[in-house]
Amino acid sequence: MAYKIVASQCTGCSACEPECPNGAIYEKEGIFAIDPEKCTECIGFFDEPQCVSVCPVDNTCVIDKSRPRYKAKK
Ligand code: SF4
Ligand code: SF4
Repeated sequence: MAYKIVASQCTGCSACEPECPNGAIYEKEGIFAIDPEKCTECIGFFDEPQCVSVCPVDNTCVIDKSRPRYKAKK
């Protein structure tokens, strides 16, 4: 899976963007989004997803259940 940002809750504060170790977070028209092809759920970098950790709005950075779980490349 990847994380996604619930667009209707994102305030556009940009706190998450520089924290992503994969550069997966980008701005689009004042709100932020996650490129699911780049998001590794922070696996291999941090114990906690950094976008979730820094986002001031609860339940805005959430798991995208429509995607398979991320598997680390060996
Ligand atoms: S979970 Fe980690 S890798 Fe995925 S978007 Fe958030 S900060 Fe980036
Ligand atoms: S930290 Fe949260 S509210 Fe701020 S830009 Fe990222 S998703 Fe939006």
